[in-house]
Amino acid sequence: MVRLNIGRSLPTGCAARSMSAPGEDSGCEPSLRLQAPHFLSTAPDGKMPKDWLKLELMARFARCLKGPIRSMSARMIMLCLDGADGKMLDQYSSDGSLPNLAALRLKGAARSLSAPPGSTDDALWASFQYMQHVGEHGRYYFQTPQKNNQLSMAHDKEETPTFWDNLSTQGMQVAILDVPKCRTPRALNGIHIIDWLTHGEYFLSPRSFPSSLIDDVLHHFGSRHPHECGYFELEIDKKEPKRIVACLMTEISMKRSAGLHFLNSKRWDLFCIGFGQMHCINHKFWDFDCIPSIDDLRIHYNPIFEILHAIDEAIGAFISSAGPTAECIVFAPTDFERNGSLEHLMPEVISRININLSKKFRTHDSRKWPFNHKLSRTITGHEPKSWPCTILPYNENFLALRVSAVGESKLFRSSLSAPPEKDLLDAIEREFLDLRDEVGGDNLIFSITRPSQSHEGQHARNLPDLLIQYPSGHFPNAVQSPSIGRVERQSPLWRKGNHRDGGFIFASGQSSNELLPDVQRISDIGKLAQRVLMD
Ligand SMILES: [Zn+2]
Ligand SMILES: [Zn+2]
Repeated sequence: MVRLNIGRSLPTGCAARSMSAPGEDSGCEPSLRLQAPHFLSTAPDGKMPKDWLKLELMARFARCLKGPIRSMSARMIMLCLDGADGKMLDQYSSDGSLPNLAALRLKGAARSLSAPPGSTDDALWASFQYMQHVGEHGRYYFQTPQKNNQLSMAHDKEETPTFWDNLSTQGMQVAILDVPKCRTPRALNGIHIIDWLTHGEYFLSPRSFPSSLIDDVLHHFGSRHPHECGYFELEIDKKEPKRIVACLMTEISMKRSAGLHFLNSKRWDLFCIGFGQMHCINHKFWDFDCIPSIDDLRIHYNPIFEILHAIDEAIGAFISSAGPTAECIVFAPTDFERNGSLEHLMPEVISRININLSKKFRTHDSRKWPFNHKLSRTITGHEPKSWPCTILPYNENFLALRVSAVGESKLFRSSLSAPPEKDLLDAIEREFLDLRDEVGGDNLIFSITRPSQSHEGQHARNLPDLLIQYPSGHFPNAVQSPSIGRVERQSPLWRKGNHRDGGFIFASGQSSNELLPDVQRISDIGKLAQRVLMD
């Protein structure tokens, strides 16, 4: 069992070591020396964030207690950059703007990842953990239709072993720290911490295996500040961006200190750690279509610049601490783009589309649609406003629809369920393609996919039948079409940035380098780890 050796008395010699010059083997990781990071001088009230000094002291103390540095290199280190933008990592590692990622790329290899359009982070992190596509694991969003026809948290029912479970079963030592969107930690050879400093937690408080470990972590490295992240732009985003940056910088420092402590506590086969701060900062401040130069980013989008650089520095610290022979993987699961949403208009739009389609099914003419004979027998008793389309929960930049082909009232679909009729899906798509922005009369460009039919796997049928992406950068207050007329509702102030399919991965180390061409999707990363570590 891994223990935090922090409660012991300070060994003599620690103070002397902490006085050593930068670059000397002081026994303390260089970042933990008592130097206030540059962002502190720009804190809004001119003061250091309240807990920073305490955290730095605790982290430094923890490192000093360990005595002379031991070479506890990991066989494989994996850094998960939740919510970082793949295109940005690609560009800034190519041009040297992010020196540590640039060095990793120079030493190893890098490539883009791909994902189905509309992949949520819930889906992608499940794909990462279980090495499965979304049709196989079924977690397309954190809430999905269950067999009792209710919506509930998808991860509750998940039983598939993760790739680190497989490694642990083979007797390997694994450390999994803050990988996003995990189910409750289970017994394994090593440690597992979830929802400590992440974005979009599944649990009300962090958890761990061993279960007592999280209390030690909170005691010695600190607990999270309340996260002010949501679907809408907040007052603090507009008025106090520096306070947000200071809070996230503190989180990065906490994660870095705790992570390096655990990394150096023993020899791990797999050491996997997530950083979620790019997720928060990109949702709040992503306000551009093309990746700016690093200088433009620093001047015009400073919060993103500050957090990105702090993470790049943390990457350098972890890779150097893992040792020269470690296989290193760093990846981001998505790209980012300007947000766009019509969610505020959708209840009324869908209600009118449903009424139109219900009317069509009841007319004689519409019987040319072959499925209408079947529908007309089952439509009686259905409320036109809520049939055939039902809105499923999803992020605000997409509309997810369940389309009931045969008048069924259940949201849940098993692999045996009948798929919705193609003609009905076509008719709904046409309604969307006819929608115009009320102001300019411009066509709104929707990207539409049919996940329940295009994916394979035992849970594919339970995916949304239609997944409709709203145009990036658009938040109209009204839309209209000849079919549904005009629908108006003031748009709320949605958050600025949102995910889009993409992602990027770096690998160095002889085996990872060679196997990287086989990694195309996030579900392939665990397979790479297993091949490298089990061979
Ligand atoms: Zn997000
Ligand atoms: Zn957040």
